[in-house]
Amino acid sequence: MVEPLSFSSAGLRGRLFENEPMARHVSWRAGGAAERAYAPADLQDLAAFLRALPSAEPVCFVGLGSNLLVRDGGLRGTAVLLHSPHAAIESGQSGEAGSLRAAAGAACPKLARIAANRGLEGAEFLAGIPGTVGGALAMNAGCYGSQTWEFVRDVTTIDRRGVLRERTPAAFEIGYRHVALRAAARLGEDEWFVAARFVFPAGDGARARRRIRELLARRVATQPLALPNAGSVFRNPPGDHAARLIEACGLKGHSIGGARVSEKHANFIVNPERRALAADIEALIVLVRDAVQRRFGVALVPEVRIVGDAVHGAGVDAVHGAGVDAARGAGVDAARGAGVDAAHGAGVKAARGAGGDPAAGAEQAGERSGE
Ligand SMILES: Cc1cc2nc3c(=O)[nH]c(=O)nc-3n(C[C@H](O)[C@H](O)[C@H](O)COP(=O)(O)OP(=O)(O)OC[C@H]3O[C@@H](n4cnc5c(N)ncnc54)[C@H](O)[C@@H]3O)c2cc1C
Repeated sequence: MVEPLSFSSAGLRGRLFENEPMARHVSWRAGGAAERAYAPADLQDLAAFLRALPSAEPVCFVGLGSNLLVRDGGLRGTAVLLHSPHAAIESGQSGEAGSLRAAAGAACPKLARIAANRGLEGAEFLAGIPGTVGGALAMNAGCYGSQTWEFVRDVTTIDRRGVLRERTPAAFEIGYRHVALRAAARLGEDEWFVAARFVFPAGDGARARRRIRELLARRVATQPLALPNAGSVFRNPPGDHAARLIEACGLKGHSIGGARVSEKHANFIVNPERRALAADIEALIVLVRDAVQRRFGVALVPEVRIVGDAVHGAGVDAVHGAGVDAARGAGVDAARGAGVDAAHGAGVKAARGAGGDPAAGAEQAGERSGE
């Protein structure tokens, strides 16, 4: 049980939820509840909320939940729900041409559109990533040859005491879908992104808007966007594509419970009837990983972050030990000590505020095979 929070005495203005079903906040539309969830009113309110939390409380920041699976036993501690359709994206005020400052809760497709409308080029790839700026920073999200951190000039972070810090990319270890703080503080456990300043090259806005349309059309043609999913489940192994290996194992269409390997894109797992347990999805991840390992000797590493507690006896021995990016910090017990690299988070539906349901819009598409 989380400690009760003296909400009114802290003067908080955001929305507090107890036992909040995280299926409402993740694009897979599956999984357990967070003991507590908080949607801050603004940055000052977020700082006050973090200060009011018991110091040992696990905290899991959630953007649009488009890369997140919360196990069925739920998330201990607090999920901070950061996405907001009103999150600001404005000129970077650095005097530097092409500079845009975006709040972490802003949706990536919105950043792509604003950049194009200001005659900048380079941000188009973000139009197809159905997450927030904060999630893109945490994941170093990318596709079609571009990655988020290529364009980051500096970021603002917040810690548990509500202290804000400006940090440059040099403060981080940045790789393929990997970002960590070089400092002692742990990104995602003690410190989180609240904003970033990007610099995009000046270019032709009309050409950027055309490219956005082309990239989105490509996603619609190749990804199962009409069904709940979390994008590509596995990272691409060096020199190959996870989707190719999975398809070659004959796993397209393979199901466990309500979860199915997409027939349209083998690196996607879909929840077609919205009845999948998180345990079904995780069991399918394990099955796919093991099949590819047996057949090709390639150890696929999940890209999706898996957090929270399994329901005892649910039968998933899961991604432990699989190098899964999972579960540090957020009340998660899975994956600790298992070569895991991440896992803060809980979520929101992909691309809410970025165009609606992940199922519904090209804006929400997102493909890593385009990388
Ligand atoms: C249809 C579809 C297509 C996709 N295509 C792509 C693609 O082409 N390329 C790609 O890279 N990804 C893709 N994805 C995955 C996903 O959209 C990205 O990983 C995205 O960056 C996640 O952002 P989010 O806001 O949804 O993060 P969430 O899923 O909410 O969280 C992901 C992780 O980031 C952490 N986090 C979130 N916000 C913060 C913060 N403010 N500070 C610190 N940590 C934070 C969370 O704790 C969690 O560990 C796709 C997903 C879908 C559903």
